[in-house]
Amino acid sequence: MKPDHPFLRRLFKKLPLVFIGLTTVSLSLSSHSATLIHAGNAFTGTSSQLSGPVTITVDGNKITSVVSGYTDATQEDTVIDLKHATILPGLMDMHVHLSSQHGGPTTYLERFTLNEADRALRAADYALTTLDSGFTTVRNLGDSYNETIALRNAINRGIAQGPRIYTAGKSIATTGGHADPSNGMSHMLRPDVGPEQGVVNGEVEAREAIRSRYQNGADLIKITATGGVLSVAKSGQNPQFMMDELKAIVDTAKDYGMTVAVHAHGKEGMERAIIAGVDSIEHGTYMDEETIALMIEHGTYYVPTILAGKFVADKAKVDGYFPAIVRPKAAAIGPLIQQTFARAHAAGVNIAFGTDSGVSAHGDNAQEFALMVEAGMSEADAILSATVNTADLLGISETLGTIEEGKLADIIAVAGNPLNDITLLESVSFVMKDGVVHKL
Ligand SMILES: [Zn+2]
Repeated sequence: MKPDHPFLRRLFKKLPLVFIGLTTVSLSLSSHSATLIHAGNAFTGTSSQLSGPVTITVDGNKITSVVSGYTDATQEDTVIDLKHATILPGLMDMHVHLSSQHGGPTTYLERFTLNEADRALRAADYALTTLDSGFTTVRNLGDSYNETIALRNAINRGIAQGPRIYTAGKSIATTGGHADPSNGMSHMLRPDVGPEQGVVNGEVEAREAIRSRYQNGADLIKITATGGVLSVAKSGQNPQFMMDELKAIVDTAKDYGMTVAVHAHGKEGMERAIIAGVDSIEHGTYMDEETIALMIEHGTYYVPTILAGKFVADKAKVDGYFPAIVRPKAAAIGPLIQQTFARAHAAGVNIAFGTDSGVSAHGDNAQEFALMVEAGMSEADAILSATVNTADLLGISETLGTIEEGKLADIIAVAGNPLNDITLLESVSFVMKDGVVHKL
């Protein structure tokens, strides 16, 4: 038969229907068995209260119903008994560095001893620890060799386990700025760094760096608009980008549908970035009333990272923990972040939960909640900052951030009532991500 024979044409026309028929059969077979979660209480994220006993039905990777009380299961259904517990939406941390963890003086040597593969394997391990602790989504704000892009892809394909990752790839700095990977090196060892490695000067290179991240598969952009604590450089707060560079970054990122997250401690660099139209300010240590008013005017999110501030302030007291140039910065900036957070929250700035984990240990992320509550935020608002607000910042509110019919099944549980004791979130007993039970 020739390829254009009428019989073959009819057969080819029908083939898609045959496949659709098979798919329908397999879908309808699997839809008979769902997973029912019987939870004693739920903080769904749709209100500031607990719901009382509830049954959540999960089919595939989606929540298909949320019903008051405990409904009966069919024989095929799997029932998860969490009657003793409170369920919540999977937590989200907007500021992590999965491929590193600060371990004292030797950390600074790792730039000379670790290769791409070493970073990638560490990232895989820290990702698992992060998911174990109830964080089902993270924003990775800076890696070394795009290893967190590879990890994101591996997790999405099911060949590694960890949270959903939205990654910036390598952070972008200016020469000598916070996140210039050649800082602190002898000129004989100093690598040649440019936009690809995250060092830019001027609008043209700023645009190139954004486009390079797009090409490499980053989800968003991270820049370091001021000095930082842990970099081997003198100032922790000087402005490090000019207005034209910031505008070039924001405008180019918009062309590629990317948001811009901004490391900033000092007021001037922070305000330039807010005016340029960035999406979030990280740390924000020296923001004052004017900065706060600008953030509210522009709808900029604040990601506080109080935990990182506490961590570096503590370690600054230990002789030899930090290089001499870092120690005074850690001692000055670290203790201020919690007070900054208190002022920003009281003034009504949008807060999205973030810890800078990788400074403090991965898996300790939830310790940030108690620091937020201590600074005057209600327990419910602290949880909403790590669920509803983070989903908004990531632009994924349609699919994540609450426990509701139609959303993806990212659900965690703690024993007891987290609205009475927020530190319960530090001991998450159940983790489901994308409808798959990770921890029970
Ligand atoms: Zn960071």
